[in-house]
Amino acid sequence: MRANEVKSPELAGKEVTVRGWVHRLRKQKENAFVLLRDDRGGVIQCVMSADKAAPLTIESSIEVTGTVSQDARAPEGGFEIKCSNLKIYNIAAEYPIGEYQSDELLLDKRHLALRTRRMIAITKIRASVLQHGRQWFVQNGWMEVTAPTIVKGAVEGGSTLFKLRYFDEDAYLSQSAQLYLEAMIFSLGPVWSLAPSFRAEKSRTVRHLAEFSHLEAEAPWFTLDDILKAEEQLVSYVIQNTIKERAEELAFLKRDVTDLKKVEPPFERVPYGKAIEILRARGFQSVVHEDGAKRAIEFGDDLSIESERELTKDADRPIFVVGYPLAVKPFYVKEDPDRPGLGLTADMLAPRGFGEITSGGQREDDINSITARMQKEGLDPNAYEWYLDLRRYGSVPHGGFGLGIERLVRWITDVQDIKDTVLFPRTMSRASP
Ligand code: ATP
Ligand code: MG
Repeated sequence: MRANEVKSPELAGKEVTVRGWVHRLRKQKENAFVLLRDDRGGVIQCVMSADKAAPLTIESSIEVTGTVSQDARAPEGGFEIKCSNLKIYNIAAEYPIGEYQSDELLLDKRHLALRTRRMIAITKIRASVLQHGRQWFVQNGWMEVTAPTIVKGAVEGGSTLFKLRYFDEDAYLSQSAQLYLEAMIFSLGPVWSLAPSFRAEKSRTVRHLAEFSHLEAEAPWFTLDDILKAEEQLVSYVIQNTIKERAEELAFLKRDVTDLKKVEPPFERVPYGKAIEILRARGFQSVVHEDGAKRAIEFGDDLSIESERELTKDADRPIFVVGYPLAVKPFYVKEDPDRPGLGLTADMLAPRGFGEITSGGQREDDINSITARMQKEGLDPNAYEWYLDLRRYGSVPHGGFGLGIERLVRWITDVQDIKDTVLFPRTMSRASP
């Protein structure tokens, strides 16, 4: 039986057996109080004689048999087990993680720290996000596909590529599955994938990982408006279902979900030029030099995390910033025929300063325009021959988006550091454990 199943008035006085680990331990003269954690992260107090508990240490694995007793004083729900029989699987060596530990130690010992109730709660929320995301695509007729992670070309720019030796050649770890998804829409229609993307992010931020879970989607004949509708429906669906399913975990994390309950379509669309005007009116400064020199933000600038925070600080729902200048976006972004120089592209910014969680838009579908854009950005079109074929053989208007699962989970859980949204984070300074 599991800890939470024991907590039922009908079981009071009945005998149960629960397996798990010693999460907390309080030994007194005659009795000992063991908070047992089961393999789903549920906990229940077990009371046993001090003799029985004598060998126990934190994280020892045990099986407790005893009668259920309802007692308002018992922590974690008012039920406990009066232990009649204790089976010991393993007496744990002195556990290196205590109650208050530095973040660094918790990362060094992540293989153990993932047993904390905080990590368990976050991971369950993450699992719900993944499950409901998949469900949304299934329900809406998108096909799940898998793209390669070993690739030859850059998607998001060369500076964040991880190079690897691939037999006798160089290859890279994928930064995005997008180019491959674009190849698939001609015969498979709307497609989506969930795969790791790798980026050698050199700046240490609370929103960047070197390896993250990338949910990407691409569909033929999708206009920018179709893409934004799909994005806002997906994100709203995931959030509403996750906060229902994981109310307990969110409460454990002290996440007030009042704002999340309001997340439903439509999300506000703010034209890029309007965003710049708002920021200028508020006297917002843009960093223009690596040494940190600043000047007033101008039309043409990319939006930094600080500017994204400023734009969303009072919002409850995400906003879309629509129509960024081509110069700050990758080569594949389609130019807006009505607004030369601007792209048919949008980023979804999560509210309250969480920043970008998706980027999406229409892709350039004309062979000449896209080759010119590649050349302008210093890319060698020869390296993208197969991709250019997609514009040679039956090109159609199309588009899609990419969403960072960890960014979404960070917003939903309200955890400060993106590293806590994954069990084994990879960053510039860490690839272990
Ligand atoms: P940013 O400007 O925030 O660094 P980006 O514009 O480089 O992100 P995209 O190439 O648009 O990122 O990737 C699509 C999505 O993937 C982003 O909206 C974000 O949610 C997520 N993402 C991108 N880079 C990272 C990263 N290093 N760690 C975690 N998530 C990321
Ligand atoms: Mg982006």
